Amino acid sequence: MSGMHQIFEDVCTTCGNAGLTHERVRSAVWHGERLVVVEGIAALACGACGERFYEPSACEALDALRRAGFPAKAAVREVRVPVFSLGASSPVDADQSPREARV
Ligand SMILES: [Zn+2]
Repeated sequence: MSGMHQIFEDVCTTCGNAGLTHERVRSAVWHGERLVVVEGIAALACGACGERFYEPSACEALDALRRAGFPAKAAVREVRVPVFSLGASSPVDADQSPREARV
């Protein structure tokens, strides 16, 4: 779709495919016990393997959001997220979490 912006000097470091395309992608980010979604991330996407490489400006913006703690009042909207578990007897594995204890 965004083939107009195709560039050929960038090569996918995962599969070697040349011709990454500029795209706006979204990503889910765990911030402690919170799950947040970030949209409109400027990235280079590989059409061959699906790998995405965030552009430097996007990384800086993401870092700034993370440092700010993903403030709820800055969110544009909220989504409900279904949660699935592959371990019926242990809905929460917080005990095994090696980092980021609950606040
Ligand atoms: Zn690739």
